[in-house]
Amino acid sequence: MKLGDTTLETLVDSQDIIHSLTHEEIGDDHLYTGLETPMKPDAFAHSDEEKKELIALLFAQIMDVMGLDLNDDSLRGTPQRVAKMYIDEIFSGLNPKNKPKVALFDNKYRYNQMLVEKNITFYSNCEHHFVPIVGKAHVAYISSGRVIGLSKLNRIVQFYAKRPQVQERLTNQIGVELQTLLDTEDVAVIIDAKHLCVSSRGIQDDTSATVTSFYGGAFNDPLKLAELQQYIAD
Ligand SMILES: [Zn+2]
Repeated sequence: MKLGDTTLETLVDSQDIIHSLTHEEIGDDHLYTGLETPMKPDAFAHSDEEKKELIALLFAQIMDVMGLDLNDDSLRGTPQRVAKMYIDEIFSGLNPKNKPKVALFDNKYRYNQMLVEKNITFYSNCEHHFVPIVGKAHVAYISSGRVIGLSKLNRIVQFYAKRPQVQERLTNQIGVELQTLLDTEDVAVIIDAKHLCVSSRGIQDDTSATVTSFYGGAFNDPLKLAELQQYIAD
């Protein structure tokens, strides 16, 4: 395959390579396999209540295998607490029914410059280790005639963060969602985050952070990009 050849072919190749590796060979490398969160076709066959019951049973088994005494007063409720937290809170973004309802408005002010919502704090979880990713997202768009409530930008970030994630996918999911909602290519997303799987275990690097970006349409213009970066830097 020539360099710069079809990206689809490259993608298929990289998928083949990923599938041929064992999880020991992949190790701590965080591979990114696509825009969509990999879900089973029957992902919502169980109700939330059924899922919580099942997760509580299974989590109790994990604790039991580790030798923890589930009769202890402090530990007894942990399986139910974890199950509720998974479904109702930290992984609630897996379920499309929890997607924020977004109302769009006409751009009455005729504001046609970029709008930047910066320093949106989010908590996510790494899908390879199920430990937290903590960071800030900066999102920007240039209205094509429609505008969105500022708090909705925040809610869209939180929705996609509440999934087992890799940072590259989180960044792209937010970017593509905003492009679709706002009917414009002119969307940018920058995420700066710490991964606890890097700081609290593994290589135990407490100072590194990961920065990812999504630049659509006008944000590929160096001048627009410089303007955005200046707003975020302050
Ligand atoms: Zn990880």
